[in-house]
This record gives sequence, C-alpha cells and structure tokens, in this order.
Amino acid sequence: MILYDFDYERPNTLQEATALLRQTEGKARLLAGGTDLLPNMRVQVLKPTMLISLGAITPRPPQAELDGSIRIDALTRLADLENSEFVRREIPMLAESAHVVGGNQIRQVATLGGNLCQETRCLYLNQEHDYQFTAPCYKRNGDCCYPFPGNKPGTCWSVYMSDTAPALIALSANVDIIGEAGVRTVPAETLFTGNSLEPLWLARTEIISSVVVPPIPTGFGWGYHKSTIRGGLEFAMANIAVALWLENDRKTCAGARIVVGAVSEGPLRALATEKSLVGQVLNADLLWKAADDASNEINPLPHHGFTRNYLNENIRVYLRRTLITAFERAYGMDA
Ligand SMILES: Cc1cc2nc3c(=O)[nH]c(=O)nc-3n(C[C@H](O)[C@H](O)[C@H](O)COP(=O)(O)OP(=O)(O)OC[C@H]3O[C@@H](n4cnc5c(N)ncnc54)[C@H](O)[C@@H]3O)c2cc1C
Ligand code: SF4
Repeated sequence: MILYDFDYERPNTLQEATALLRQTEGKARLLAGGTDLLPNMRVQVLKPTMLISLGAITPRPPQAELDGSIRIDALTRLADLENSEFVRREIPMLAESAHVVGGNQIRQVATLGGNLCQETRCLYLNQEHDYQFTAPCYKRNGDCCYPFPGNKPGTCWSVYMSDTAPALIALSANVDIIGEAGVRTVPAETLFTGNSLEPLWLARTEIISSVVVPPIPTGFGWGYHKSTIRGGLEFAMANIAVALWLENDRKTCAGARIVVGAVSEGPLRALATEKSLVGQVLNADLLWKAADDASNEINPLPHHGFTRNYLNENIRVYLRRTLITAFERAYGMDA
C-alpha cells in the first residue's frame, strides 16, 4: 500500500519540535525510528498530516545523576541501550527488555521513547485488505469490533505490547515530558490510560524527553521474560518484569513489583500479590503461590488468537520462573 501525502519537518531541537506540534494543533506526529508509526500509517490506523522527524537530534548517552539515578534520553536507540556496557551493568533488566524487541534491524533505528509511545495492537486492526475488514472498527473511528462484537459499543480491547514499559515500571522509572508549560515528570506507570482508543496520558503536543531510573535498592534482584510464539522477531504474547528487594537478612522481602505487559490496554501491576510478599521470608513455595495469585489478579485480555485461559497459564508458569530468578539474584545465588 502506498503512503498518502503528508508534510515533513526536521527540527534541530525538542523545543522546535514542540513548537511545530503546537502549530499543527495535534494533527502532526513525531517520527522517531518510524518502526511503529509508518506501518500504522500504511494501514491507515493513524493519519497525521505532518511528520516531525526527530532524526536531526542526537541523544545524550545514558548517564548517572548526582543522586544515583540514571537518565536515559528518550531518543536513545534500542540497540544502543542493549549494547551499552553502562546500562547492562547498572540496569540490566532494561537492557534485556530492549534486547528482545523485534529484530536487530528494528532495534538499530527504534527508540526508547517510540517504544513507550507505540500504538496498541489487534489482529484485526493492523491489516487493511480490500477483501476483509473493510468496515472500520472503533479504533479506526468506525462502529464495530470484529473479535469482541458482544462488548459495550465503543469498547476496544487492542493490547499495548511494549517490551520496555513493564521493565521501566518494575524499576519505578519516571519520564520527563516536554510540553507547552515546560517539563513535567511522572512515574512511567501513570502514562497509561487503560483505554486502548487513547492509550497514553500524553497530549499530542507533548514529547517524552528522557526516562529516569531511580537508584536501585540494596538487596535487589530482577527477572524478565517475554513469551512469543516463535521465540524471536515477534511481539509478545505476554511479557513479565519482576523487581524484588530483600532486607539485610537476605531472606525477608522488603519490596516487590510485578508487572505484566502485552495482555491489556497498558502494563498491569499485580498490586495485591506484591503487597502479600512484603515482610515475608521468601522461599520457593511462597513464590510459586505468588505466581498463581498474580496470574489470577492480572486477568489477561484474549489477543492475537491466544485465549484468556492460555495467557493466564502462560503468565502463571513464567512468573514462577521469573520470581525465582529475581529472588536468586537478590540473594546473590547468581553471582
Ligand atoms: C517487524 C516489527 C517487529 C516489532 N516487534 C516489536 C517487539 O517485539 N516489541 C515491541 O515493543 N515493539 C515492537 N515493534 C514496534 C516498534 O518497532 C517498537 O515499539 C519501537 O521501539 C518503536 O520505536 P520508534 O522509535 O520506531 O517509534 P516511532 O514509530 O517513530 O513512533 C511510535 C509512536 O511514538 C511517538 N513518539 C516517538 N517518540 C516519541 C517521544 N519521544 N515522545 C512522544 N511520542 C513519541 C510517535 O509519534 C508515534 O506515535 C515492532 C515493529 C515491527 C515493524
Ligand atoms: S479490539 Fe479494538 S482494534 Fe480490535 S477490532 Fe475491536 S475495536 Fe478494532
């Protein structure tokens, strides 16, 4: 399918980019790596009248701040994240989550900001053929939903499949957002509206400028797993990010964050399960029970042919392994 005509600008700074976004009253889109935006334009899920390329702006390398947090420019390419010795050493979960996005060709151009701001996906939405699905669904401003016709009108259950977002939420990361009123900072987990039609709390005139990961607590361990049907080059059927940190006795849980992505309108935290772990002396039985509880708590949306039961079971099994890995790292057994 041939792309329609649109205007194109290539500003030299993020400030110029925000000014352009304002001038076009939200009808323009930022073009970072373009690996999510351009395919969506080809199938006319998105129809911006102007693309504002961020390609002339060089991202700053990841750096440690005075308070021990780590700042990562949102324009950083995923390949640079996964290959950065600094990031791999200081925040290996983020490097791992970047490493599993698509294939190397994608990661060489795709950015962290673009990964966070990607559109939700649905088997029926992301294709437009003359012979099928010609009536637009709710996500394309139409009046139907192919996989879930029994839902309340206007309900879209397309899922948000970023691989880095669950890791950033497990790491309690914040994002800096540049807009008309200056810079605002919000926890990454509050970016998500829970509505697939407008999945992000981000005005069309705003730009994510950087991601800040706070200092890692002592006694910290992490686990990350992405399930895909073919094992690579593929969007997730579910992705899991776990952060656990222990008291000085290296047995008692001081804190936990369990995040599951790709099975809902945005990443989900298993808050009740996290709470139930804090203060407990951890062992394999307890972590297995936590995985069972969390998979029930998450209640995944069926997507891309995977049933709710299948996804529930997938999350339960891989969460067991991910929790154990996080605990072993926190305990120091992986050293
Ligand atoms: C074959 C293929 C496989 C893929 N596999 C995966 C996968 O496994 N996992 C995964 O997570 N994704 C996957 N993707 C989706 C996509 O490649 C990634 O999400 C990628 O990180 C998007 O980044 P980008 O820089 O290319 O974003 P773009 O396509 O340039 O932008 C995506 C959206 O974000 C907006 N945007 C970009 N930067 C900013 C910013 N700084 N502030 C505010 N808004 C911004 C854009 O306007 C656009 O709406 C895949 C894509 C393809 C084509
Ligand atoms: S789930 Fe959303 S994107 Fe998929 S067909 Fe229904 S309305 Fe469209």
